[in-house]
Amino acid sequence: MSPTVLLFQQDAYLRSCTATVIESGESGVVLDCTVFYPLGGGQAGDTGWLVTARGTRLRVADARKSRRPDATPDDTVHVLEPGVNWPSELAVGDHVQAQIDWDRRLRHMRFHTATHLLCAVVRELVDGCSITADYARLDFAMTAPLDRAEVQAGLERLVAAAIPVTSEWISDEQLQSNPQLVKSMSVSPPLGFGRVRLLRIGDVDLQPCGGTHVRRTDEIGAVRVAKIEKKSARTRRVVLELAD
Ligand SMILES: [Zn+2]
Repeated sequence: MSPTVLLFQQDAYLRSCTATVIESGESGVVLDCTVFYPLGGGQAGDTGWLVTARGTRLRVADARKSRRPDATPDDTVHVLEPGVNWPSELAVGDHVQAQIDWDRRLRHMRFHTATHLLCAVVRELVDGCSITADYARLDFAMTAPLDRAEVQAGLERLVAAAIPVTSEWISDEQLQSNPQLVKSMSVSPPLGFGRVRLLRIGDVDLQPCGGTHVRRTDEIGAVRVAKIEKKSARTRRVVLELAD
């Protein structure tokens, strides 16, 4: 089985795509390509709908990476909403329209891009990350206190600078010979598949990341440092909110 083509890696602004069912069962549906981001790297999985050829709209409650032993990190399961009898609705080979809940995803993209800027402002290793539609939080491995006003001002400056956000691919070997690219202690890039995706924000931030981002930092809009707390003796937690 060839892996699911993750269309959002090339264009995070795609809201829907036409796809073919390659697996359908109680755990959900796997498609040959998808716009759904599967939970990973701290970012929540997308929700949305699969629209059948007959026009039936099936609710997708979550998207997860496949747990099959032969699955690649790209294989995405569109998780059924409880009560929907998916196997009877969708058979292998059927064509569907996959549509994400765009309002929710755009908030993930704004928050996710903001967390990269936060890495550039704080410049410490990350030891935990969660990106949802309501908030983003990053845990930094550090003992020094963080000043909320300074962090807020640093973020605002980088958002206003309208810096392009782009992605590129490097080989496993290139990443292994540049270990300083990895800024997260809690999430490891998927090695063993030949290539790793890097996310670049101008000359401000560069690190392995498979998530979804806005195309320019000003599209993050109004972001607010809601809270900075001492999570443990060696960890400072920063919580972001969108102000609109
Ligand atoms: Zn990212």
